[in-house]
Amino acid sequence: MPVFDYVCVTCGNRFEKLHKSATACQPECPACGSGEVERKLSTFSSAGSSCPPASSGAG
Ligand SMILES: [Zn+2]
Repeated sequence: MPVFDYVCVTCGNRFEKLHKSATACQPECPACGSGEVERKLSTFSSAGSSCPPASSGAG
C-alpha cells in the first residue's frame, strides 16, 4: 500500500502515513495534532502520483 512521508512544520515531527484511499491528502501531526504538514517523497517510485485535483475548479 502507498506510504507517504510527512514532516510537521509546526513541531518538525516526521511521520509516515498509510493511504488506503486517495481521500485524505493532508493528515494531522500525531505529535502535536497540527495540520501544517508537508508531504515528502514517498518510498514508492510512482510517477505522477499526487493529490487528486479538486473536481470543481476553485479558482
Ligand atoms: Zn507536529
